Amino acid sequence: MSALLEVGGLAAGFGTAPDVLAGVDLTVERGEFVSVLGPSGCGKSTILNCTAGLLVPRAGRVVFDGRPVEGVNTGVGYMTQDDTLLPWRRIADNVALPLRMRRVPKGEIGPLVERYLTLLDLRDAAQLYPAQLSGGMKRRALLARSMIYEPELLLMDEPFAALDAQLRAQMHAELRRTVRETGVTVLFVTHDIGEAVALSDRVVVVGGPRPSGIVHEQAIPFGTDREMETLRFHPDFAALE
Ligand code: ADP
Ligand code: MG
Repeated sequence: MSALLEVGGLAAGFGTAPDVLAGVDLTVERGEFVSVLGPSGCGKSTILNCTAGLLVPRAGRVVFDGRPVEGVNTGVGYMTQDDTLLPWRRIADNVALPLRMRRVPKGEIGPLVERYLTLLDLRDAAQLYPAQLSGGMKRRALLARSMIYEPELLLMDEPFAALDAQLRAQMHAELRRTVRETGVTVLFVTHDIGEAVALSDRVVVVGGPRPSGIVHEQAIPFGTDREMETLRFHPDFAALE
């Protein structure tokens, strides 16, 4: 079976400005957790936007599940850095929104909302409004909303960057558990190397002189001394020592 996502020779840019990305090659296998790591402005979000079909590449190809991406890719979930919960809707309604937009029958919506609120430990927040939630709960609600239509691939764009270290560590644990329980494939963007190492099967480093390309690719050596050395300095694991 082919990879879930195959990006080849991707070039992208905006207006008359020079390309932001050139020749980006990236493959994500089913069930993999891959992080794209790179400095701010190198084009990480642009890669995700091309994958989601929100931006048309200038060159190259994006093949999802064996088919070229043309227009909005409905097979992906997309969790951005921004708080895009609708303030006037209760959490359960916010989380149900993608299903309602896809015209899923009413009778199927309730059980799915229940399942994803439970999965992300949000059952007590179902009837609250976003303003009544903590930062971590809002992140969990956004994660529930981007997973509820059970996308095969979940795109996450620096989803925890706005959280303090303790909350971020908690969210990492929640995300690892959620990925384990659902088997979802994840393409995760971050500029934090510790976060990339803590979460991923494989890290792809983007950057270099403009336009950006892939500069390095590293499988995370789980269980090795080097991994342990790296994790020692990561807030998720510091508490375990
Ligand atoms: P990253 O996510 O790695 O921080 P982005 O993919 O958001 O980087 O942006 C890469 C470059 O493209 C930046 O220089 C940014 O200013 C530019 N850029 C991003 N989006 C747009 C846009 N809609 N219009 C014009 N320039 C953009
Ligand atoms: Mg970005």
